[in-house]
Amino acid sequence: MGSQGPSGRLIGLFGTDRFKNDPQTLSYYASGLTGQYVQPFGVVFPLNADEIRQLMPIAKEEKLVLFPISRGKNYGYGEAQGTLEGQLIVDLSRMNKIVQVDEQLGVVTMQPGVSQRDLAVYLDKAGSRFQADVTGAGLDASVVGNVLERGFGHTDYGDRYSRVIRLSAVLPDGTTVNTGFGDHTHARSRDTYRYGYGPAIEGLFTQSNFGIITELTIELMPRPEKTCMFVLSVKDEEAIEPLVEVIRELRLQGVLNSAVHFANKARAIGSANNRLAGAWNLSGSLSGPASLVRARKAELKRALRRKGIRVSLWFFDDFLMRVVEFVNRNVLKISLYQPLKDAWDLQKGIPTDNPLRILLEDDKLESATLDPGKYETGFLWVNAVCAAEQSEVRRILSLLRSAFTEAGYEFRVTFTAVNPRSLIMITNITFPRNEAEMTRAGAFSKGIYAELISNGFLPYRSGSGAYSKLPVLGKDKESVLSRLKAAFDPDGLIAPGKYNIPG
Ligand SMILES: Cc1cc2nc3c(=O)[nH]c(=O)nc-3n(C[C@H](O)[C@H](O)[C@H](O)COP(=O)(O)OP(=O)(O)OC[C@H]3O[C@@H](n4cnc5c(N)ncnc54)[C@H](O)[C@@H]3O)c2cc1C
Repeated sequence: MGSQGPSGRLIGLFGTDRFKNDPQTLSYYASGLTGQYVQPFGVVFPLNADEIRQLMPIAKEEKLVLFPISRGKNYGYGEAQGTLEGQLIVDLSRMNKIVQVDEQLGVVTMQPGVSQRDLAVYLDKAGSRFQADVTGAGLDASVVGNVLERGFGHTDYGDRYSRVIRLSAVLPDGTTVNTGFGDHTHARSRDTYRYGYGPAIEGLFTQSNFGIITELTIELMPRPEKTCMFVLSVKDEEAIEPLVEVIRELRLQGVLNSAVHFANKARAIGSANNRLAGAWNLSGSLSGPASLVRARKAELKRALRRKGIRVSLWFFDDFLMRVVEFVNRNVLKISLYQPLKDAWDLQKGIPTDNPLRILLEDDKLESATLDPGKYETGFLWVNAVCAAEQSEVRRILSLLRSAFTEAGYEFRVTFTAVNPRSLIMITNITFPRNEAEMTRAGAFSKGIYAELISNGFLPYRSGSGAYSKLPVLGKDKESVLSRLKAAFDPDGLIAPGKYNIPG
């Protein structure tokens, strides 16, 4: 067997159509929108968990290091790149079955290759009373990869990892770990109760390199009787501070349950000028039974009045959105129609490529065909978690503003209240992908992460090519992670260096 070499053995398992190492394929997986290039050894496309189990001994014997991706649309966090050169990308996009949807309890079990579009279309066609939470990452991004990175969406179920019921992971020795009650196929609450009994270990498979996840069961959100999106804009730059307090209190009280998105003007509408857009622009959802929506609207208005903040506030429901759509199409073009429609679609669980198009200023862009290697614009995210307190927001903003001003980059920023107590700050820079600009962008992001971290604002997430920007692991945690890695993956077969896990 060994005499066939790694390529021969991979062809033996996957055939020539599911093992690729031609220059074009390698270039696609090697290229990041940041401009970094990390050449893999090749790419395989398994069709089931069994093939992944069979791949493990080949990887071990042939000294191949594996880098699993669900759909590899990790834009701005390394795309489909491995952690190091020479890895075998395990692209799970062809494992794209929606295994089961429980229409009574609102849970879906799916394989990693299921895209946001696949799930939305499935639920729509089935006439489901449930919807998915979706992210702004586009139609072709996966659900599973995003959950594993603890990404967030926009609805009441925006903190996606908190909605995981169970997952299945294949380990390098071929073992399959089923979390929760996953092993007990007769368990009546297998798809409803996350913890099972004993240690809850699903978290170990997020932002880590301990196994390859082959199935995920996650809660779906009931489609609200009434979807009501609020959009709020405020002229005064400083008004973000009291607004953060208002939103926190409303979230703590359960008046607001969705993720709430704060965007500064440059992030909300780009370089366009529009008098309706404020210095800060907020969107979120007050959805639920019609009577609750009425009460929630009243509470939101009351809380804003009490703080004495002068805002413009709009509420959109299905009827109003249909009117706005009609007017925009047939009567007069509404300048902020597209960002409004995008925010509405995300609340309704309808994924769209528009945020990607806006970010890269490219109307024609499609997540299904975007090839980072051929793209002329680069971009980088910078993120940090910020406590939902006005003094914290003031501090992080002052730090960011001076860094952006000094470097001469346009300052585009969002804060998302993913839970009542925390905001995730995300800012980005875009740049032409030439050597000089990429070097400048790289130095800027390194510097700003160091500054944020030294001021106590730590990232919620990282990606290939950026782990060196994370804070240094605590010694004891490093040691525990190293022992866990040795237990799960003693030969270091999966994504070495991910999140700086030693081993
Ligand atoms: C305009 C724009 C908007 C965005 N909006 C959002 C947003 O709203 N929320 C958000 O969270 N992100 C957002 N992103 C960032 C990113 O694009 C998404 O997080 C995207 O979902 C990640 O790609 P993916 O789902 O295809 O995951 P992948 O790229 O497949 O995987 C992501 C990571 O998980 C690991 N992984 C994936 N699958 C497995 C597996 N089966 N087993 C083991 N490890 C695995 C991979 O190794 C990789 O490190 C946005 C990006 C852009 C450009």
